[in-house]
Amino acid sequence: MSVYLSLGSNVGNRLQNLQAAVERLRAELGVTVWKESRVYETEPVGDVDQGPFLNMAVSVETTLEPLDLLECVQSIEQEIGRERTRRWGPRVIDIDIVLWDDVVLTTKALTIPHPEFRKRAFVLAPLEDIAPVAKDPGTGLTIRELLRAGDVEGEVRLYSA
Ligand code: AMP
Repeated sequence: MSVYLSLGSNVGNRLQNLQAAVERLRAELGVTVWKESRVYETEPVGDVDQGPFLNMAVSVETTLEPLDLLECVQSIEQEIGRERTRRWGPRVIDIDIVLWDDVVLTTKALTIPHPEFRKRAFVLAPLEDIAPVAKDPGTGLTIRELLRAGDVEGEVRLYSA
């Protein structure tokens, strides 16, 4: 069983924020982190004037239900957000649930696969590191195929600290 999470940060010490989030995930009961991608630096998508992100992906196995994992990643987001900056900043750390095996779920709080992931290079490029042939149950395409599909937005480059 594999669940894939996408992590991003563009405020404060971005690399430390990512590392802190992975550490917190590793410490969660019922969550085992398997693989970690390399870290990528990516230009923000959209009109908001903000600095570049660092992004990565991890694979986890979990005994939690999807909504409970969402609650778990949201509490990690809040904890790290509070620790790293005085002012509330929404992107100190962002953790999205991208794929959950072949689960397709649409609820008010949670959509799996993540609704935006197919066109975002900053999600797909890190994911390709750890799961190139994982399949998107929505389209039947693998991560590698989605990345090469042509309608992927955004610039990504490998980050070295
Ligand atoms: P954002 O501010 O972009 O991190 O969006 C967070 C909101 O997206 C939360 O309120 C979640 O309930 C919702 N959401 C829907 N689907 C997902 C998903 N697959 N992973 C994470 N958050 C999700």
